[in-house]
Amino acid sequence: MSETQKTLSRRSFLKGTGAAAGALGLAGAAGVAATGNLLAPANAHAESEERVAHLCHQFHCLTGCNLKCTIRDEKISIIEPSDLVKDKKHSTICLRGINEVDHIYSEDRIKVPMKRVGERGEGKFEQISWDEAIKTIADNLKEAQQKYGEGSVFIRKSTEAGIGFDFITQLLRADSGGNWGLDRGQANGLGPAFGPWSYLPNRSAWEMKDAATIIELSHNPLESAMVWSRPLMDAKEAGAYIVCIDPRFTGTAAKANEWLPVRPGTDAALIQGMLKAVVENGWYDEEFVMAHTSCPYLVNRTTGKSVRSAEVVAPNPTVVGAEEVGAPLVWDTVTNAPALYDNPDVVPALEGEWTVDGQPVTTEFALIKEWLGTLTLDWAAETSGIDKQTIVDLADRYANNGPAIIDIGLGGADKYTNADVLGHSTAMLVALCGQYGKKGAGYGSYCGLGANDPAATMNYWVLPEEYHAGESPVAMYDMPYTPNNIHAALTFGDAFTLEAGAAQDMLNWVKTLDFFAIVDLYFSSAVDYADVVLPACTKFECEENVKQLRDSMGHVMLANGMVQPLFESKSDLQIERLLAAQWGLEDLLPKTYEELARFSLEGVAELDPRMEGITYEALLANGGVMALPETGDDFMPDGTADFFLTPSTRIELYFEYLSDQGQALPVYEDANEAYEANPKKATYPLYFTQGKSRYRIHAYYSASEWFQEDFGPRINIAPEDAEARGIATGDDVRVFNDRGSFVATALVNRSLQPGVLFMAETTYTRYYKDGFLQNVTNSARLERGYSMFFGPQIPYNDVLVEVEKA
Ligand code: SF4
Repeated sequence: MSETQKTLSRRSFLKGTGAAAGALGLAGAAGVAATGNLLAPANAHAESEERVAHLCHQFHCLTGCNLKCTIRDEKISIIEPSDLVKDKKHSTICLRGINEVDHIYSEDRIKVPMKRVGERGEGKFEQISWDEAIKTIADNLKEAQQKYGEGSVFIRKSTEAGIGFDFITQLLRADSGGNWGLDRGQANGLGPAFGPWSYLPNRSAWEMKDAATIIELSHNPLESAMVWSRPLMDAKEAGAYIVCIDPRFTGTAAKANEWLPVRPGTDAALIQGMLKAVVENGWYDEEFVMAHTSCPYLVNRTTGKSVRSAEVVAPNPTVVGAEEVGAPLVWDTVTNAPALYDNPDVVPALEGEWTVDGQPVTTEFALIKEWLGTLTLDWAAETSGIDKQTIVDLADRYANNGPAIIDIGLGGADKYTNADVLGHSTAMLVALCGQYGKKGAGYGSYCGLGANDPAATMNYWVLPEEYHAGESPVAMYDMPYTPNNIHAALTFGDAFTLEAGAAQDMLNWVKTLDFFAIVDLYFSSAVDYADVVLPACTKFECEENVKQLRDSMGHVMLANGMVQPLFESKSDLQIERLLAAQWGLEDLLPKTYEELARFSLEGVAELDPRMEGITYEALLANGGVMALPETGDDFMPDGTADFFLTPSTRIELYFEYLSDQGQALPVYEDANEAYEANPKKATYPLYFTQGKSRYRIHAYYSASEWFQEDFGPRINIAPEDAEARGIATGDDVRVFNDRGSFVATALVNRSLQPGVLFMAETTYTRYYKDGFLQNVTNSARLERGYSMFFGPQIPYNDVLVEVEKA
């Protein structure tokens, strides 16, 4: 079939589908229940035809694979790895991508616009027209702003809904809820040391094969980020020694040379034991330390503050922004006097005791040594559950058998209140051992962004200056607990439950709002609480032949060959335009995805020579996929880590800005709830941990029937704990603590240590027999978090529970 024929066929199909979708709409409203034969529109036009489309898939998994979709009779029928990407290693996709052929057509898609007819939380709706739905939302948001001020409207996007833009937030100058509170726990400790975004590694994951040692720290890419299994397995085949630190015997642990079953929430104690072994055995890389770290900087012993120049200013060493301060000083061994840290003629001392202006001073390195002297390996072993010789051996291997990588997960250890201490400790280990800035060495989350390939430069659609997101005086996760002026909310996706430590608190707060509307794909947990619900379409569907333009894996990808939105759903852009039109502002937005794509690519070769030849027409001619030059494992030459995005451009290991809170050095502290000596353990003796699964990204993909084997919800329990409670695989069990409870199906699983439970991350409330996983999770906030770059983290895993047969 010719391209013209394909296009014509598609267009005639689109015309027919409009009527069919209308008919389905009524069924969908009744069902909020299932509709039955969702594929009827395609079948009704069952002209035998087939075409292929390519698109960039999820970013929520931090990857963005290119998917090749076979569209047969206007139904997406086969999804496979792209054959248009530059080489094979960029063309792996995971189960979630393949499974879209089921997920897109789920019975649990929201099919029509609806308004609430029952109480909030009851989930009773009736169908309304798009016109009524849009007008209701637009009027209510504006009314709230007229009554309570601009900041009274809260608009938040969750990537679950695949929404691409912030236009509505900006048009209303709405509150977007500030800090996320997730996935940045370790980054709060790593950022001040290496630079704010350094939890994304600065080197390619494809260099893993150049590493001699790889530590998977609370990361399970073989299950949770499957496409990143390839570089890890390449490394294994090349002879790298892989150590997996995880409370659970994961898929990654099974492939590792060594599994260290750390006690939940105590990873920092293990890393600090390694630090002690490194420093006391002299295994640190002094050349790297002197050239690239703050270790020689002087500190006032009395005040704990850095000793700084009175004449030369430098940025304040805090990641939250502040007035400039004096530049750091070191002790010059040539002149035997303080000197500027970056004076090339100076030969700094790494250790020593001096007096400056009558004050006793020493170096950061001396303070690190002293602090480590107060720790014992017995303490590290007892706290972490890993014996001390194993800790010393791992330190030896990491420091002396490089290049070495520490690959961190954004779940697991990241979701405890003490995650910043872990991040700071690991940053110190990396810096002292010099395992950074060379092939096969690095630190960060090696799964996607940053561990990838070069990013493309594209134009960003900017609204006039007066349209911008408003202030967010209270983070969304604090709204149930902190007085605020939010009266109306619109969320794209289920932000309210996904980003809440204790979801019931959040949903109870949502009930108090004057108005709440949600745009979503599926019946996610927050939908039942909305006054108006709009059906969004998936990233495979669009009113146009093209959709998003994105870059990932060193490629620029324009989704084309889209299928028509199913049911009465609409694309992100059209929903935003409809809302904007109610306020007379739609002309500020792109009219179509094509207009946006053309604008994004306009003249970019002048900004970035690597974009030469990547035009809208060229992308269409190439199936929507074009590679950037230098894609591959050589895109990052050695030595690129010689400059760090810190105030002094070196790795800064002494957090002066936290010295008043006793955390200038990463002083160990127990997690908020999950620690051995917690008196609560008498009542709630089990550590409740959750993590990512191969089937879902957070709750997303819950609505796929093919994944129902992991739907559960299913709680994994060690045989000893199950036996003690008379629990067998398949039993319904109640998981509970003071905060609440939920019912799940037990799976007795030998991969767990006694005393530790595991569950795949949350799924929509409708799939639970009773309760909801986030009824038991912890919403505690660490006070010092408020002075950190990413703010306090929600400690989802910092949880103790008990389990009983339901
Ligand atoms: S890793 Fe899986 S979910 Fe993520 S973009 Fe690739 S195929 Fe999609």
